[in-house]
Amino acid sequence: MFVYVSGRRCLDFAGTVKHRDSTREELLTQPERLSDWAVQAGLVDRPIDVTDADLAAAIALREAIYRTVIARLDGRGPRPADVTVINEWAVRPRLTPRLHRSGSVSREGSAAQLLASLAADLLDLLTAAEFENVKRCAHAGCTRLYLDSSRAKNRHWCGMSTCGNRAKVQAFRARQRAAHPT
Ligand SMILES: [Zn+2]
Repeated sequence: MFVYVSGRRCLDFAGTVKHRDSTREELLTQPERLSDWAVQAGLVDRPIDVTDADLAAAIALREAIYRTVIARLDGRGPRPADVTVINEWAVRPRLTPRLHRSGSVSREGSAAQLLASLAADLLDLLTAAEFENVKRCAHAGCTRLYLDSSRAKNRHWCGMSTCGNRAKVQAFRARQRAAHPT
């Protein structure tokens, strides 16, 4: 199941591998899953054709995005190979919305346009002042990245429905155990 809690599409995309540091779980297991992800993200209206090669390229880009964000958070520069991958996609044509004569708007494109849009979203984020609010989820095992858009900038979890509630329940149980030792 995909979740979109990161506040930026490039970060949601990086989150399509769960638990990177422990029980790593790949969510993009089939080419169609990339299409599903894009539709559920609202980036395209209808399923797109994704080949095995597109999926491999998507995963390579996703890992480059993840490593590049982590490098920036750690105060390091990105890997040269990741810079190449990201730039190769960022210069390509992106997904484009289209206005129809009926007045409706459709969002469509190819797998390549999807990857170009995600690479461009990362570059927008890296140049934005709000990058200082990009955080790693504090929940043990969760490796999602997110943009903290709360007013006080005091969010600790990627999302309440994903990790926040679990963390609160665990803290509550720990307090109960401390208060009522058996
Ligand atoms: Zn989390």
